[in-house]
Amino acid sequence: MPDARQLTCPGCGATVHPGSRLCGHCQAELATVRCAQCFSLEMAGSKHCAQCAGLLGLEGIEGALGVACPRCADVDLIGVQVGDLSVGECLCCTGLFVDHRTFEQITRRAEARAGLRLRPLSTGPTAPERTAYLRCPRCAVHMNRLNFGERSGIIIDVCREHGVWFDRDELARAVEFVDGGGLDRLRDRDRVAATLRRRVDLARTIDPSTLPSYDMVGSFLASMLRSSR
Ligand SMILES: [Zn+2]
Ligand SMILES: [Zn+2]
Ligand SMILES: [Zn+2]
Ligand SMILES: [Zn+2]
Repeated sequence: MPDARQLTCPGCGATVHPGSRLCGHCQAELATVRCAQCFSLEMAGSKHCAQCAGLLGLEGIEGALGVACPRCADVDLIGVQVGDLSVGECLCCTGLFVDHRTFEQITRRAEARAGLRLRPLSTGPTAPERTAYLRCPRCAVHMNRLNFGERSGIIIDVCREHGVWFDRDELARAVEFVDGGGLDRLRDRDRVAATLRRRVDLARTIDPSTLPSYDMVGSFLASMLRSSR
């Protein structure tokens, strides 16, 4: 299947990596628009997103945010309106800085859509291997690196206070992960852990010999309690 995301620069004819705003060869600006549903960067002029078939709208530019891209350092982040959400974008590396509330909204919407899977995003050159932690564009504190959803393999940079930094394609990949039910297992596991915690707390308050024998978890806890007494 030909890669629908393969782009050619109208200026110099060079092949452009999908998810770029500028041609890497001649720096010409490419007519792109970000999909408000899956956050993939698409060619302007198409009616539907090639990744999720969502309707492509218009992007609003809200102007420079007055903070620098954590990766490109001397390039300001631009406030971009994607659908009804505002994100900070570096038009040079197409990285995105998203505040926590907005990211929560993005994941909640992706979860509501779950099942409606995206086609896999084509992979281009990944971000350069980092040796240093990136600094938050807002407060300049070093951000934490987290594996999003614990097993997505998407390493996001998080300022607890201000938001999350996504390198090129990482937000679209995170949305794809959530769309595919990636957070479900995490939730299941959290639920099981919470149940166990409650049962351990309960077990501490009761006499192990009074637990019914058909209660598997109960009898397991009882045997643990007996051996620890
Ligand atoms: Zn070019
Ligand atoms: Zn899309
Ligand atoms: Zn940048
Ligand atoms: Zn910060």
